[in-house]
Amino acid sequence: MREAGRINATVLATVKELLKPGVSTADLNAAAEEVLRKHGCKSPFKGYGHPPFPASITVSINQELVHGIPSKSRKLKNGDIVSVDCGTILDGFVADSAFTAGVGEISREAQTLLEVTRGALYAAIEKMRVGNRTGDVSAAIQKYVESRGFFVTREYTGHGVGRQMHEGPQVPNYGKAGTGVPLKAGMTIAIEPMVLVGTAETRVLPDQWTVVSADGSLTAHFEHSIAVTEGDPLILTDL
Ligand code: MG
Ligand code: MG
Repeated sequence: MREAGRINATVLATVKELLKPGVSTADLNAAAEEVLRKHGCKSPFKGYGHPPFPASITVSINQELVHGIPSKSRKLKNGDIVSVDCGTILDGFVADSAFTAGVGEISREAQTLLEVTRGALYAAIEKMRVGNRTGDVSAAIQKYVESRGFFVTREYTGHGVGRQMHEGPQVPNYGKAGTGVPLKAGMTIAIEPMVLVGTAETRVLPDQWTVVSADGSLTAHFEHSIAVTEGDPLILTDL
């Protein structure tokens, strides 16, 4: 999983370099697939779900929270914030990670949103310790985000990750400390704060995949796959 995570991080770093005005979201997917192919890896996203997801990354811009479908006609613009989510399968093990970054110059609100969402991820990772429960992780995300005036999604959650992309336990972005599944050394969980500026409510576009904020406000998403150890939490999807 560590190696799958390292390759996944390489994919995301490659895509991040390409976030420039005029680049299409299909171009980002093509670059991601090239890195996966080079490492002999498969995508857990491609063909996933109903209708089958057609690409190896999801690219979600501005009010799009998650699950945006790459397209040749969708081009990045100065001031956009772009969420890229990628999974990697290596030797039957899955890594799952996401980031949001700006294109060119972004608004102060967008910058704050990125900082808060990323901060929530690291506040959550800090709770990924033996002796804590999944509710401690969820509560850390919710508190971090809501105390800064933003909202967490109720509909999409973090999750166990391993031989499958989505395994138990679910780790919502809200919850009560001291509740949920006890964390044990060796558990591997994808933690993924999904944060919205104006409302917690979302809707799915007619393409049946793209999730947007119900009020059209900006959104962001950061994710790492984490291993719980006897010591500090191990981020598997960092370079
Ligand atoms: Mg993901
Ligand atoms: Mg995930």
